[in-house]
Amino acid sequence: MAGYSPTLLDEIRTGVDIVELVGRFVNLRKAGVNYKGLCPFHAEKTPSFTVNPKKGIFHCFGCGVGGDAFAFLMKQDRVSFPEAVRALAKTTGVTLPEERERDGADSGREELHRAMDLAARFFAEGLWKPSSERPREYLAKRGIDPEVARRFGLGLSPEGWDGLLTFMRGQHVATETLESTGLVVRREGGTGVYDRFRGRLMFPIRDLQGRVVAFGGRAFGDEQPKYLNSPETAIYTKGNLLYAADIARATMRDKNRALLVEGYVDCLMAHQHGFTETVAALGTAFTPAQLGILRRYCEEVVTFFDADAAGQKAAERAAELLEPSEAGSAWAVNRAGAFETGGPFRLKVALLPTGYDPDTFLREHGAAGFTERIAAARSLLGYALDRTIADPEGGTGPRARSNAFARAALMLAKVTDAEEAAALSREAATKLGVDATQLWIESQKLQSALRKPSAVLSRPATVERERAQDRALVRLLLQHVPARTTLLPITDDADLISPSLRAIVAALRARPDATAESLLVDVDDAVRSVLTALLLEEDHRFPEDPDVSIAGFRRRLEREHHLRRQRAIAQSISDTQRRTSVLDTPVQDFQALHRESKVVYEMLGNVAQSLEPRENDPEGVQTNE
Ligand SMILES: [Zn+2]
Repeated sequence: MAGYSPTLLDEIRTGVDIVELVGRFVNLRKAGVNYKGLCPFHAEKTPSFTVNPKKGIFHCFGCGVGGDAFAFLMKQDRVSFPEAVRALAKTTGVTLPEERERDGADSGREELHRAMDLAARFFAEGLWKPSSERPREYLAKRGIDPEVARRFGLGLSPEGWDGLLTFMRGQHVATETLESTGLVVRREGGTGVYDRFRGRLMFPIRDLQGRVVAFGGRAFGDEQPKYLNSPETAIYTKGNLLYAADIARATMRDKNRALLVEGYVDCLMAHQHGFTETVAALGTAFTPAQLGILRRYCEEVVTFFDADAAGQKAAERAAELLEPSEAGSAWAVNRAGAFETGGPFRLKVALLPTGYDPDTFLREHGAAGFTERIAAARSLLGYALDRTIADPEGGTGPRARSNAFARAALMLAKVTDAEEAAALSREAATKLGVDATQLWIESQKLQSALRKPSAVLSRPATVERERAQDRALVRLLLQHVPARTTLLPITDDADLISPSLRAIVAALRARPDATAESLLVDVDDAVRSVLTALLLEEDHRFPEDPDVSIAGFRRRLEREHHLRRQRAIAQSISDTQRRTSVLDTPVQDFQALHRESKVVYEMLGNVAQSLEPRENDPEGVQTNE
């Protein structure tokens, strides 16, 4: 595979802490020898995504996806195998052989990452140069601690048009690469490029692996726009990331909570005050993808609204989240702010005094005040419902009431859990002064009208026929190297019905000394999924001595082979007889058939006869002679 030796791959694999790797994306909890969490590759309610740290593998019993650290990274980050190897080699400190001819397999993403990394360093150095007094004064004025600024990698883009460009040329970064990162912009007319970010405070935006994928640049004065952001690129999709998620990850998991703010500075300030579980949504709309990131790490998200705007904003957020997404109603929120699928997840709103944002509030009231606000947070849907019921014109007449009734019913209709919808109906009905049952019935009617055919999760369409005994055989081969010596030479493809099991045996045959885990890179996706499942079945494996199992399988395989030979000979005899006459059947055929039958007969005791059709009964054939 891509020229990496199995030894090298093993070295990297054993160096990777798969729980840590997967844990960056999935909220894992210990379960016996394994760790379990919600599968990042399909929507599920109960965790069936399993990670085994000892073997360095993962497997989802829901959708069947599985593999080693390489496979996980490839799927999670949509990178090629060589990219995954290089990324993990880097984290484990394994040196790869000289990189060979670029084969285009990594679609240039690595070049982009390199350029972004260089740019981040260039900007950061710029900020701490003695000459950069103005930007540092600005930081001081905003109350940003230099230590926090460094932790977040803040930087300065130089004035002028080609500061970064000149630096990048010195680093031999191609102009096309720079254009692809969005760091430079092509001049109108097409001749040459210039720096996109000039004279701005730079906030590097990192992915969950801590790689810089974009920048936000803030103006120091009144220049417009106040914030200038990187465009979408091959490595950056808006709405798919949360600012500081890479830094906040560990605390989010420890505290089982995330604080969600809007701006970069809000986020920095929260971290500075010890709220290191804080992330920022990049942009105004909050996307299901961002929520998806958060629910991997924690079960509660607290967001902050100015008291004046809370109703409005909560209603907007709720509307975003209640709309059915591509994944069906997976993102629908219930009354407690919990998602219908994916386990408990509470979305709350903490109110800040009118005119405040987390940044200004923290600077004035400190961590204690902030903590109080968080403790008093209320469910997002509660706010949204209040807002829905309130008449925009402040009317209180029958017409306003009936409009409010309709709006509430519509909102409740989107809450997919009937029980929660009923509870919410009661709350709304009390406020509206109407009958709760009536409101609930109305919302249920609307719900069936709204309901779209739910996106059925497609399981990988590789449900293969396979026998339990075949599976047990392959498991034994994988888990006991001595079994391979005895059983591999006598295992034929014909012994295994499932193509995946055959592929695993073929991989074993090619590398009979390999550990089971290291075979993961030798097989394709579908086979890999079967392989990881087999490896995780270890705990309920052969109760008896492996030697007893080996002997048992050996007997079974030999018996199968004799049976197959017996069938083949009998078939050939009967074919010949149909074509010619009994007398033309070569006598050796009868003798061979007799021999095979006798062996099988002895092996099985008295059941041999019943396994073969009557006309192939060797005794009968002989009588005819
Ligand atoms: Zn899955």
